Amino acid sequence: MPYSLFIADLHLDVRRPALIEAFEAFLRTEARGAEVLYILGDLFEVWIGDDNRAEGLHGALAALQALTQKGTPVRFLHGNRDFLVGSTFARRTGVELMPQRQVIDLYGTPTLVEHGDLLCTDDVAYQRYRRRIRHPLSLLALRILPRFIRERMARDLRELSAQEMAGKSTEIMDVNAETVRQVMREAEVRQLIHGHTHRPNVHRFELDGAPAVRVVLGDWYEQESWLVADSEGLHVVSQRT
Ligand code: MN
Repeated sequence: MPYSLFIADLHLDVRRPALIEAFEAFLRTEARGAEVLYILGDLFEVWIGDDNRAEGLHGALAALQALTQKGTPVRFLHGNRDFLVGSTFARRTGVELMPQRQVIDLYGTPTLVEHGDLLCTDDVAYQRYRRRIRHPLSLLALRILPRFIRERMARDLRELSAQEMAGKSTEIMDVNAETVRQVMREAEVRQLIHGHTHRPNVHRFELDGAPAVRVVLGDWYEQESWLVADSEGLHVVSQRT
């Protein structure tokens, strides 16, 4: 039976080589049989631009390229860590870049896919920061900054975000239920798939009198986790590494 796969929040990082190997193995096995592999953001712990050193990641990039060359389409949308993934990366790996929010046809069910950070509207400070940093002018400025400056900024940001996270309540860092409803209504879908919050789950609820589902993809910090979708439905797979 034809199937599509969804992953997010792998946070690939040179400091975690076992994780990178697990991802490469996933690309060589499960992903090989998929009709489409969707990567819904934060594939990389940090990506300061397509000219980065991609230290420790060359094998993973080669495995992505091998997968697309063998005919499995891979579609990627940006997370908050890797929003500087650009057209050079796409060309090199054969991965297609998607808009930040998109309705796809998933075996007859219109399905909204996104990273998930846009749904966390209780975190007002983050949303303000996001609007600023993802503004086209900021992105342009970031792309022309010398690499050593971007490397330094990434280090500072990482420290800052660790400090900020420590001071934020868990509710603030989860999605806002009303935002979810509103976004699904606007997109005219009853199925939403996203990552970002690292709280893998399948939430079933009622939206304007009809059943709706929101799937939260798992991160790869302590397990491998992916979602299989086929004409019979959705199926979460999770295994310890
Ligand atoms: Mn994220």
